[in-house]
Amino acid sequence: MTPSGEQDSTSELLAFDRAHLWHPYSSAVTPHDPYLVESARGIRLRLRDRGGAPREVVDGMSSWWCAIHGYAVPELDAAVYRQLDSMAHVMFGGLTHEPAVGLARRLLALTPVALEHVFLADSGSVSVEVAMKMALQWQIAAGRRRTRFFTIRGGYHGDTFSPMSVTDPVGGMHSLFRGLLPEHLFARRPPGGVDRAPDDDAMVAWERETRALFAAHADEVAAVIVEPVLQGAGGMHVWSPYALGVLHRLAAEHGALVIHDEIATGFHRTGPLWAGSGRGDLDPDILCVGKALTGGYLSLAAVLCSREVAEGVSGGEAGALMHGPTFMGNPLACAVASANLDLLTSRETAAEVGRIEGGLRAGLERAASLDSVVDVRALGAVGVVELREPVRVTEVTAAAVELGVWLRPFRNLVYTMPPFVTSDEDLALVTRALVGAVEAVHG
Ligand SMILES: *Cc1c(COP(=O)(O)O)cnc(C)c1O
Repeated sequence: MTPSGEQDSTSELLAFDRAHLWHPYSSAVTPHDPYLVESARGIRLRLRDRGGAPREVVDGMSSWWCAIHGYAVPELDAAVYRQLDSMAHVMFGGLTHEPAVGLARRLLALTPVALEHVFLADSGSVSVEVAMKMALQWQIAAGRRRTRFFTIRGGYHGDTFSPMSVTDPVGGMHSLFRGLLPEHLFARRPPGGVDRAPDDDAMVAWERETRALFAAHADEVAAVIVEPVLQGAGGMHVWSPYALGVLHRLAAEHGALVIHDEIATGFHRTGPLWAGSGRGDLDPDILCVGKALTGGYLSLAAVLCSREVAEGVSGGEAGALMHGPTFMGNPLACAVASANLDLLTSRETAAEVGRIEGGLRAGLERAASLDSVVDVRALGAVGVVELREPVRVTEVTAAAVELGVWLRPFRNLVYTMPPFVTSDEDLALVTRALVGAVEAVHG
């Protein structure tokens, strides 16, 4: 709206955006033109084209994997309105409130019993910062000056400095920030496939190398940090619970903690509630959740840790965990997160995700025969088509929009992470558009 209350035309909004707004990972000087969204409802985004004409597309991205129940969800809208009636925000230092307590209760009920303490953070990256700080403070409190983290290549943990330092050194920003980023330890990426057998040659070799690397630095490693079973923004690589178990055993043998970053994988995105914990003895000491936590309504993440970690940190010289964001425990975000978790647990979410996995496998199958495609994979509500070459993002996006679907590819990956409420019919539209756009642009 202009000051006079008159609505800006689509082209004026886009021109201002182009001149002044940064978008994620974009150039301020030669930005790609974004699409203007007018509203979102169900699983559809209402776009306005340059001339101002509306057009609806089915959302294949869940707004970066958050909007698991779609948009304008009555239960979530109601939770926000209800919370607004009492308070939008108060500080969390020295104060507490029912929305934060209610959310912590729900999170503890959904996570492994050993996790007893909840730290509310304002974004996924901040939660990873906090998890890493917890691990360092725990080691320091135990009298060990351990300052390195052990992870695998191909990961993504966020854009602030500590998460960036454990994100893949090649795909990440390590060369750009050389000297500024601490140098952590990167094992090779484990062999692909969720069911990869322990005695498979590639796995045996990976395990041997990884053990050797860990052993050589054992007294420096504060914690292992990984995205269990599915690496998200680092390249959508699927790896096995067996390999995760190897990392857990190494951590246990050498006095390091284990951090699971389930910001992308949590809340059933890969099928089970958690990609890592809940599988035998693969529970972490510290768990980060975010993205889908509020169903895509507001920015919120949480770090959960065991009593042992909490007591260690609190018993150290500092006597406290040294972190406290201004918007910590924001009541609006906590209220909508609780409503989102209630929806998630009241629905047959695991079955819904299983249905989506089937639809993705069937719908994406045809892509495997395209010349431009090297791999097609699906895990839970994640469907990935990997190309031989980097995706021509603007063209593929435009082709998908023409076919009625919103997609946002990156690197050499065209993928979908649809909302869990996507019907079979809409899912077929998503996969048809995805494969059609790849074929039209890359062949
Ligand atoms: C998105 C993501 C983050 C960062 O979360 P933000 O809310 O964008 O800061 C961290 N880890 C993983 C695995 C993610 O997918």
